[in-house]
Order: sequence, then structure tokens, then C-alpha cells
Amino acid sequence: MTIFSLETVPIGVSSGTASVLGLKRIKLMEKPTTAHFLFGEDCLNQCAFCAQARGSKSAPNHLSRVTWPRFSWETLKEPLRVAITQGTFKRVCVQTVECVDSQGPALDFIAKIREISPEVLISAALGPVSVARVKLFFEKGATNIGLPIDAASPEVYEKVKVGSFERAWDVVEKAAGLWPGRISTHLIVGLGETEEDAVRFLVRARSAGVTVGLFAFTPVRGTAMEKTPPPDVGHYRRVQLAAFFLKRGGDAGKIELRDGRIVSIDLDRQDLWEEIIAGKPFETSGCLYCNRPYYNERPGQVMMNYPRALTEQEAKEALKESGLA
Ligand code: SF4
Repeated sequence: MTIFSLETVPIGVSSGTASVLGLKRIKLMEKPTTAHFLFGEDCLNQCAFCAQARGSKSAPNHLSRVTWPRFSWETLKEPLRVAITQGTFKRVCVQTVECVDSQGPALDFIAKIREISPEVLISAALGPVSVARVKLFFEKGATNIGLPIDAASPEVYEKVKVGSFERAWDVVEKAAGLWPGRISTHLIVGLGETEEDAVRFLVRARSAGVTVGLFAFTPVRGTAMEKTPPPDVGHYRRVQLAAFFLKRGGDAGKIELRDGRIVSIDLDRQDLWEEIIAGKPFETSGCLYCNRPYYNERPGQVMMNYPRALTEQEAKEALKESGLA
């Protein structure tokens, strides 16, 4: 047994996942359809928005506004087996923090999940550091790998992260070439980008065949960005609409931009319009079945990402918030 193995390292479990597994009693407004786990803490990186970053004074066991109580594999394995085999969770997502004790146990965990089910979808979110590392996770049984770039432009990247925007993209694009349709990234909206930056990011991802999970920046106490406000809802809705339009094959030239802002999207397809008025662009985006309930907002606040289909009224409201209706 190595020092850092699944047997020795406690596993962070998102509070929603822990509740579904019967390990934590909280009232869930919406149930997660993906089970989320976190490996490692005290990241070597210094992302200004992240509670796990080196230098962050956030309460332990936080990522975004979610708490991640820790459990042993021994405690997790049976309830997780039941939830996966009954289809309660359609995907397992393994989030990793850059530290010595995350990669080995995360790889072991993926192998164990594969033993439980050969079919369940497994995502692993890793820093976009190398293609070799992506390969390791695929070999253990991951179906998809998320390589979060987070920032929409090199300027924003430089302000909120350490390293190089282009180097991160290089890993993402190479991995997407090697494993087509199986690579995703995250874009956090509200870090200081313009809507034009976000559109450029989304177009680049689409050209590479990379799925984008949109997140709304959430200030977390104790982080370097704790005093930065979350994005304006109109800004977020416009990026969601552009992301949806591009994902459905829309022509980027039909997104009209003025002074860095989206001013119109020329919708000439009835099918797209029907999905838009049903609220599809405002649902959580990213890997299939990843609904991340209340990851970026508290119950009762404006839902930046809906973890389910919207009601007619919610869809109308979200479209109105975009200012593009
Ligand atoms: S989109 Fe969801 S399932 Fe995919 S890597 Fe991101 S958090 Fe995990």
C-alpha cells in the first residue's frame, strides 16, 4: 500500500452527493444526477477565485459555494454501488486538486467505479498540464476528461491564474485531437472578461470539438476575489445564449457584438428558437447529466444555471434578463 491510496486518503463528497448517498442530512431542492467527488486539498496553484488555492483563507472542504465533507472509501463504496446500479447517478465526476495526494487515489477511485459498473459515465477534472496525464485517467476507465481553462482570455487568465492561457489551450486542443468528443473545459463567466472574449473562447472550443461547461463566478470568503461581485445576470444570460447557439451549430458570424457586448443573435432557425423559448440555454451545461444544483447560487437567488428543465415562466424571465428578447 502506498502512502497516498484510496485506503488512506479521505474523499471529498459534494454535500448534494453525500445527501443522496444517505451520508449527510440536508434538504435537497434538486437532486444531483452526477455524483461529485473531490481529491486533494490545498492546491499548489493560486487561482484567485478558488477556495482550494494556495493562500486562500477559506474554510476547509469548500469548492465554489459547495462544501465537501470527507469520507473514507470504506464508507462510500456500498451506498455508491447502490446509487450507480439503480441509476440514481448517471455520471461520476472526479475533481482533482493539484497536490501530492490527489492523483493516485483519484485513479484508484476511477478503477473501483469501473469495477462497480462498466457503463456508468465517469468524468475527471484535471488541470490542463499534460496529455500524458489525460491518458492515465482514460486508461483507468474515465469516459470524459475536463481540462478547465476557466478564464476567457489571456488577459483575464494572467490576472486570476498562474501559468499560460495558450499552454493550457495547447493541452486541451491536443487532447481533443487524440480523444475526439471526450474532452471538455470549464469557462467561469464574471472574472473580468467581455462577452466578445467569451464568444471567442466558445468558438475556439467548438472548433476543437471541446464541450464547455459554463460557470458563474461565485465570490467565496477567504479567496483573493472574495470582494468581487458575481457577474451581472444579463451578461451571464447572453453568454449562455451564445454558447447554446454555437453548440447547436449556429454561425458565429450571426452573433453581433458591439463594444465587447452581444447585442443580437440572428436566429433564422425555428428549431433553435423553440429550444430557446423552452429555456434550454439556461440549463446547466457541460458533460451530459451534470446538473450541479446550486453550485453557483443559493436557493432563492437568481438561478444562473437551472439543474432541470425550466418552467414556461422561468424561461420567459431568463430570456428577458438577457436583454436580447
Ligand atoms: S461539466 Fe460537470 S461532470 Fe463534466 S467535468 Fe465539469 S463538473 Fe465534472
